[in-house]
Amino acid sequence: MSHRGVWPLLIAGMLMVACAGDPAPRTSTPAEVSTIAAASAPTASPTNPTEPASLIASAAATAAPSVLAVTVPSTLNTNAVTAAAPLDLSQIAIPPGNGALILVDAGHGGDEIGAAANGIVEKDSNLEMAQRVQRLLTQSGYRVLMTRVDSGRAIGDIDGPGQPQGFSAQRRDLQARIDIANAAGAALFVSLHSNGLNDPSANGIETYYNSQRPFSAESSVLAQTIQSTVISEMRRTGYSVRDRGALDDACLRAFQGQCFPLFLLGPPRVTSRDETLRRGGDPSTLGFAPGQDAIASRATGMPGALVELLFISNWEDAQLLADDTARETMARGVVLGIARFLTENPR
Ligand SMILES: [Zn+2]
Repeated sequence: MSHRGVWPLLIAGMLMVACAGDPAPRTSTPAEVSTIAAASAPTASPTNPTEPASLIASAAATAAPSVLAVTVPSTLNTNAVTAAAPLDLSQIAIPPGNGALILVDAGHGGDEIGAAANGIVEKDSNLEMAQRVQRLLTQSGYRVLMTRVDSGRAIGDIDGPGQPQGFSAQRRDLQARIDIANAAGAALFVSLHSNGLNDPSANGIETYYNSQRPFSAESSVLAQTIQSTVISEMRRTGYSVRDRGALDDACLRAFQGQCFPLFLLGPPRVTSRDETLRRGGDPSTLGFAPGQDAIASRATGMPGALVELLFISNWEDAQLLADDTARETMARGVVLGIARFLTENPR
């Protein structure tokens, strides 16, 4: 779940919460504040390093600090906007080999479960799907880097007692996923989700890209290709699914005249101290220096797409999400799309 209605929803007696896709901030609905989000800055102090524990394998790190440099849009008042300290990514284990490195992001994690209905919890479903995609990509000769490999967030120790919850945790988690992709030099960023909406009739598969990035043309083709291959694989296998298309997320949500794309795919985002406080965040944890008015996020440096594989909130879609063959078919569709894109757009 990455967009639309969002927010804590009650469906079929099960709680549904918003996706990390981070829509526009809102001040009128308190329930949204703690679950929605546009995160912006992770923190990692030398004395308490925040490590991407879920990624760590035995290999040594090759992260290049230079890729973590922040890009701040020229239209911003840079006197008031600085970036928080980057994560310590020195322990990222980049898979060996010569194939293109694909960042596979299993949406949500930890306290943030995503959508939940009809017996399916999104964060768990996303992870299982990401593992299928990882396996198929690896078998196809690609290298895969996962943002998480268990039920937790992309970085550890941000949901525990005494840790900032809600907005702060989600923002740090999302920023970590971007930092991981950039540090590893991934060729593509592919995020896997399933949708949820308070209208149980909403169904189907859709794929998002952002049109405001230097590589948006490639992201658009990537999204269209993945969308096309997932749909075609499902239909070829005999499953009836609705094709919702490849969609630009640049103005996915509008608030007070400003557009808010998905945090993971969009350009660097500036968040003010006021907004952070209004949304229940902790400025100091997010990296605000005393008196600092705003912080800027770091954006991805490679084409990306976010796939919404069916609606958990739709009964028929949920049955497919519970079906092993349907899940494997969707994973194959995602991998075919990635492979086709890279064949036609070598990176
Ligand atoms: Zn989601």
